[in-house]
This record gives sequence, C-alpha cells and structure tokens, in this order.
Amino acid sequence: MSGGDNLDFEIRPNPAPVGDAERAALLANPGFGRIFTDHMVTVRYADGKGWYEPRVEARAPIPMDPAAAVLHYAQEIFEGLKAYTLPDSGVAMFRPDANAARFAESAQRMAMPQLPVETFLRSLHEIIKIDRQWIPQSDEGSLYLRPFAYASEVFLGVRPAMEYLYLVIASPVGPYFSGGVKPVSVWVTPDYTRAAPGGTGAAKCGGNYAAGLSAQAEAIENGCDQVVYLDAVERKYIDELGGMNVFFVLDDGTLVTPPLTGTILPGITRDSVIKLAGRAGHKVEERPVSLEEWRTGAASGKIREAFACGTAAVITPIGTVKSADSQFTVADGGTGEVTAALRKQLVDIQRGRAEDPFGWVH
Ligand code: PMP
Repeated sequence: MSGGDNLDFEIRPNPAPVGDAERAALLANPGFGRIFTDHMVTVRYADGKGWYEPRVEARAPIPMDPAAAVLHYAQEIFEGLKAYTLPDSGVAMFRPDANAARFAESAQRMAMPQLPVETFLRSLHEIIKIDRQWIPQSDEGSLYLRPFAYASEVFLGVRPAMEYLYLVIASPVGPYFSGGVKPVSVWVTPDYTRAAPGGTGAAKCGGNYAAGLSAQAEAIENGCDQVVYLDAVERKYIDELGGMNVFFVLDDGTLVTPPLTGTILPGITRDSVIKLAGRAGHKVEERPVSLEEWRTGAASGKIREAFACGTAAVITPIGTVKSADSQFTVADGGTGEVTAALRKQLVDIQRGRAEDPFGWVH
C-alpha cells in the first residue's frame, strides 16, 4: 500500500457549471462517452510521498509534459462502472468494490502504486454527489464513471514511473440498446490475438485496447459487430470479445465460460452471471471451449445459446459467428431463453426492482 487510506477530498466546485436548460438538452440524447459532467476527481502520487492532494474540481484539460512517461510507454490503467437512480430516487452503483479490487490488481501488473480501496470508493461517491444532476432519469440511462491512473513523471527511461495521477471523470449515457436487446454478430479473428500467457490480458490497461483496434476494424470489414479472440498459444480456444466476456448455454442448461487463466479480463458481470446462474440451479463450468466445439455444438443443438457480458451492455446474445473459413448461427440467431432470463434477473437487481441476494448494490 502506498498511503492515502483516509484521504479527505478538497472540494473546489466548478465556478461555471453547465446551465439547467443546456444540461437537460444534453441528457435528452447522451449517446455514449461524448458528454461529460462539470467535475473531475484528481489525486496525485509521488514515490516517498504516497497519494496526496485529493480533489474534486472543475473538469478541465490536464497539462502534460511531452515527456510524461505514459505518452511513451503506456503505463496506464482504468475502470468502468455505472451509477444510476433507483425507484426510490436514491443513487446506486453495482459492485464498486469489485472495480476497486480489479483496479488494484491492474496497478500491480503495470508496476504502478495501488490506490487504497477506500480512496477509490470515496472518489466515486464524491463525483456522484457533486454531479448528481447529471444522472439520466430514464429507466435505462446511467452515469458512466471512468476512474483511471497514469504515469505522469517527466522521464524517458524505461522503468516504473515515480509520479502518477489518478482521475475520475463521469459521462451520462443512454440505454445501450435503443431499439431493445439485439443479438450481435461476431468475427473470430484469424490474424490477431489479444493476450498471451504472462502478458497483460487480465489487466485493464489502455495498451490492451490499442492493440485490439485493428482486430475490431477487421470485424467491421467482415460485416460483424464485435471481434472474438482465440487463445494465443494454440489459436483454438475462445478467450473473449474485444470488450466483453463470453458464455455458452448447453442443451441441459449448463453454462460454460472460459476460465480465468490470466489472458482474459476477469469481468465483474461474468462473476455476477456465474453466481446468479448457480443460484438459479444451473451448473456452471469454467473451462476452455474451442471454436470447433462451438461450431459443432451449434450445428447439433448441444450449444443452445451464447451470450457476451460486460458493464456496458450487461448481457447480449450472440447470433451469428463468422470466421475465416466458416459462418454459423447459434440456434435461430435470436435471443435464447436462458440469456433473456439472466439478463432480466441481473438488470432487475441492479435497478432495485428485485431482491439483491448478494449485496451487490451500493
Ligand atoms: N473483457 C474486456 C476486454 C472488457 O473490456 C470488459 C469491460 N470492462 C469486460 C470483459 C467485461 O468486464 P465487466 O463485466 O467488469 O465490465
């Protein structure tokens, strides 16, 4: 740990916040990741000093030296989670402690100092408190929170930086699927892998996403919505999608999902689905699934459904699967029964419409 367990945030309210009418107009159609609230959180870190100067301040560009280490060697990590209004008009977050823990693990992998869990959680509360009016009131809208940290030290040597900046920004977002949940088509990339054993696949670092952009472009060129990665060693087993984990539903109701062996992101939605499905009486297996098993299983009916899951879209059915040498659909390419039921259960818990058996809603 690097100090900073009980930091008191200094609040410097934005002297020129967006006016009510303009904010209402922005919130009417927020899209994703394009508009931002009036404030941001900043906390600095220096070796020997620990975390210091925790602040809530007006959102503004951050001055950066051209030799800041992050611009050269990409020492950077981030998280993503949502805050939303409950039926009783309280504000909730879903499992923010899990994001805090993953942020700390990402930091460790990237040789960065770990922000104490309490400071991470406190920073989220602070920005929600001050920018509460930016939370969309619609049934499915939310305030997307983006905590991140990067190496700010001015130094070109290749070694872990000695200075960092942690920030939280917030962006109101509309319902992910404006026209209701639609199955996605996926492209199994033959050219690119996402993460090799010993690499950074389990960390939420910007570099992983930069490396995935060409693969995502390839998916779009092939008429698909999302890319699916195979394992980097045998190029045989399904790892995950560009920004989501994957599940298969077998004909006996068993759920299967690739194991956490260090090459995939340990999704919080993935973990939630495993727990919910177990509670609903499904058998859940964490084991490798090959593209061949998926293809033959879809053809024989042994694999009845497949879905992707993550914070943004919660649970999304996978309809069509395309690879260099094949194309097939899972069942009729629509939304499966188990997929729909799990999605409903999870969204109802998140939105405070159902009992919260695991104490996930904060
Ligand atoms: N895999 C990747 C590569 C992701 O970017 C995400 C989104 N954070 C996920 C899986 C799903 O993780 P979570 O359920 O925590 O959003």
